[in-house]
Amino acid sequence: MSGPSFRIGLGRDLHRLVPGRRFLLAGVEIPSESGELGHSDGDVLAHAVTDAVLGAAGLADIGQLFPPSDAQWKDADSMVLLRRAFGLVREAGWRLSNLDCVVVCEKPKLLPWRDAIRASLAAALDVEAADVFVKGKTNEKVDAIGEGLAVDATAVCLLERAKP
Ligand SMILES: [Zn+2]
Repeated sequence: MSGPSFRIGLGRDLHRLVPGRRFLLAGVEIPSESGELGHSDGDVLAHAVTDAVLGAAGLADIGQLFPPSDAQWKDADSMVLLRRAFGLVREAGWRLSNLDCVVVCEKPKLLPWRDAIRASLAAALDVEAADVFVKGKTNEKVDAIGEGLAVDATAVCLLERAKP
């Protein structure tokens, strides 16, 4: 196959945090006083990873594939959307080499949930958990994230050409 053997991708997302919503990261529900507001389930990490893998393959962005104006994506399970998007990436001839992510929120603490989050992403992206890493950070009480009003996620991935 011609063309490059590797492609890098970057995704970023932010959701407001409000009481009465679930706090989801890559489909893992974390006990929290507030959760992500969103048209879908609001899973900020799933959305950042979806944009990273789609962008690496040069295919689309999450808003193009799953427009919020389309009623079928209301309250959608964002991990189903990620699997669907990654299916397109695979059809285009790519596999995931590795994925690295940062989630920024003041609370809850993410470390106890990290292994579950890594396993969830690895299963969706057809790699081992060792190929996926997730770091939790606070915003040192600065700005809206620091006040607990929002959660932010960034994901970087490397795709490599799948063996034919
Ligand atoms: Zn989002």
